[in-house]
Amino acid sequence: MSEKIELASTVASADDDDLLQFLEDPHPEVSESGGQSAGKSWRVLIVDDDADVHKATELAMQGLLVEGLPLAFLHAESGVAARSILASESDLAVVLLDVVMESDDAGLQLIHHMRDVLGLQATRIVLRTGQPGYAPEIETVQAYDINDYKTKSELTRTRLYTVLTAAIRSYKQIRALESNRQGLELIVEGSAELSRLRGLHRFAEGVVTQLCALLGILPEGLICAQAGSDRPSGPPRIIAAAGQYSGMINAPLSSVQVPQVRKLLERCLTERKNIYEDATCLYFGLSNDRAIAALVDVGHALQDIDRQLLLAFCSNITVGFENVMLYTQLLDHAYNDQLLQLPNRTRFIELLEQNLKQPQGITLALVDLDDFAEINDAFGHQFGDQVLLSVVSRLSQHLGFNSSMARISGDTFGILGPEGLINATGIEALFADPFNVVGERLQISATTGLVRLTDSASVGSELLLDAQIALKRAKQQNRGSSQYFSSAMGQDARERFKLLKGLRAGFEERRLFVVYQPQIDLETGKVIAAEALLRWKTEEGKFVPPDQFIPLAEQSGLIINIGEFVLRTACYQVKQLRSLGHADFRMAVNISMAQFRHPNFMDVLNNALRDTGIEGHCLELEITESMAMEDIHMVQRVLSAIRGTGATVAIDDFGTGFSSLSQLRQLKVERLKIDRAFVQEAQNSNAGYTIAQMVINLGRGLGMRVIAEGIETDEQRQHLLSMGCHEGQGYLFARPMTAEDLVLWMDARR
Ligand code: C2E
Ligand code: MG
Ligand code: MG
Repeated sequence: MSEKIELASTVASADDDDLLQFLEDPHPEVSESGGQSAGKSWRVLIVDDDADVHKATELAMQGLLVEGLPLAFLHAESGVAARSILASESDLAVVLLDVVMESDDAGLQLIHHMRDVLGLQATRIVLRTGQPGYAPEIETVQAYDINDYKTKSELTRTRLYTVLTAAIRSYKQIRALESNRQGLELIVEGSAELSRLRGLHRFAEGVVTQLCALLGILPEGLICAQAGSDRPSGPPRIIAAAGQYSGMINAPLSSVQVPQVRKLLERCLTERKNIYEDATCLYFGLSNDRAIAALVDVGHALQDIDRQLLLAFCSNITVGFENVMLYTQLLDHAYNDQLLQLPNRTRFIELLEQNLKQPQGITLALVDLDDFAEINDAFGHQFGDQVLLSVVSRLSQHLGFNSSMARISGDTFGILGPEGLINATGIEALFADPFNVVGERLQISATTGLVRLTDSASVGSELLLDAQIALKRAKQQNRGSSQYFSSAMGQDARERFKLLKGLRAGFEERRLFVVYQPQIDLETGKVIAAEALLRWKTEEGKFVPPDQFIPLAEQSGLIINIGEFVLRTACYQVKQLRSLGHADFRMAVNISMAQFRHPNFMDVLNNALRDTGIEGHCLELEITESMAMEDIHMVQRVLSAIRGTGATVAIDDFGTGFSSLSQLRQLKVERLKIDRAFVQEAQNSNAGYTIAQMVINLGRGLGMRVIAEGIETDEQRQHLLSMGCHEGQGYLFARPMTAEDLVLWMDARR
């Protein structure tokens, strides 16, 4: 069927061994990139049922190079044989194909099989036929992307060479395009993949893997060094490595034992550019004088196309490295104190959680420097920083490697470690000697709260809370002391916490309300006023005494809103009573220090008066004696503003504080309220009597009205009256009652 090919060259016998040698792929793991196999020849499959054609073709092409590489021939005598070769060969450049073999269209069917079934798009096909009558139709040529169609007689040696060269060139271009596309896909995928990797090491590892994929090699012989990591001038370190180098991660580059590798990386970092030699070294220049060099041991110099891909990859990855570095820096800031180079609170809590797994014998200490704010104020912040640094240095000398230290807040350190090292006496001893701060000898004391991890049921940040509770106790005792946490302490604090949460919710859900206790003119027995007193009834229907929840509201700042609510409610109640005909009636409202100090206090007061339309003189504000004496200038300022509204002021719980006569005179308040403790003692003891009498005399002497609270018996009432007390309040007259009850009570007394 087939015809002899006219070849200009002499036909010599082919050596089967040579053929075998071509058939055996010396590099089964050939590169997918660049279009040239690592086999370093173009593989050409001859499919023809005429054995002579095989020999002739091979001989004709012997010794010729196409695009600088020799040809390697594979042979199939039929369409079927060709299929079995195609099944295992993937990088055939050209198939020289006979049309008519075992069947009239065996060749055409093979084309269909290659293109449609195997999806071999790059391989070029040259049809050779001895019978022009069997030529494929023009559509077939187009549909199956056939490179060339020649009758065998046309194919002289030169013609064949030209045809093959053209086919191989086009194969090469197609492969280059293909791998370009694959490479770009890898870059896109790779960058997306890499951006998920947090942390420089993982990112660098990802780069290394991605580079291998890009170059179609195993992740072997790859290494990545970073210069100017934490300190820009620091020596370069290995941050990622694969294969034979993987043991070197974190080692300085100078310790890399393979001189070529070390030198190439060093050169790359100093020359600041990619180097393509037997190994390829990529340079990633980053901000702040940092740089990364990645070495890929490909085993040969890279082709242009690979270099272009790598350039695209590098520019992409540089951005990635930059981001990762920023991220690492952010992490560092999130977990470390920059001034003292210590873990911060967040990091310390993590450490605590880790230690909880083995809490035996471990103690947590919270060391709080005394009067640090004063040191800062007196000597400046820079000096303050130095104080902290010298404290850290002494503490860390003592603690060594078995424990961890962190900065929890400005002047508070957390220490975690074995009990033998971290205990009250040990820490106190550390502060016995003065500290050396920039040449000055400075005596510093610290108060410490300690928790033996086994003594607490808390975890993580709650443990720190326990230590804080102990620290607070220690501070209450005296500065410079230490206190161990006990579960009883914790319970106390936790209950208060629960109570505060309940109070907040209670206020929001309107379970707080105001009751009123009348105040009586002792001489006439007339009702002149009432004191507004706050009540809290919990969801379960229990009353929580104000002595418990008011201090909590004061500490938490909740009193600002609650106090405003009481004030407005009380004013509204005055308005109600007025409309019911109780014209000459005053309302006393308790005011906390936090409210009094609040910059908006006068606005709150004015608004309450304006919104209810009551006159100022219908309102009396009760402030405690200790409050009145705390910050006399501030108090005087606010008092004069209050006076401007017409409202009066009473000093509550008088006798319990330490007011001086001169201060009392300066305050110019309208009323003194004798604390009920002295009222109750007045009938039992001489001392109580003396104090009550003293307060009455004092008030009267300064021209004030005096009121006694907590009058429970008529005897007390008579007694106080005879001592000169003007007014009274107590169970004898009435208990605190709701607004409706007060109206009924007042009507009944009229
Ligand atoms: P306070 O201002 O000294 O109020 C007088 C307290 O004495 C009230 O206690 C009242 O119920 C109680 N009391 C009145 N008569 C008698 C009596 O004859 N015998 C006895 N044993 N007690 C009597 P309460 O209502 O428990 O309030 C306690 C404290 O809570 C108040 O002491 C006041 O300091 C504070 N408080 C109550 N309501 C408010 C408020 O709205 N704002 C602020 N800031 N504090 C409030
Ligand atoms: Mg009061
Ligand atoms: Mg009182």
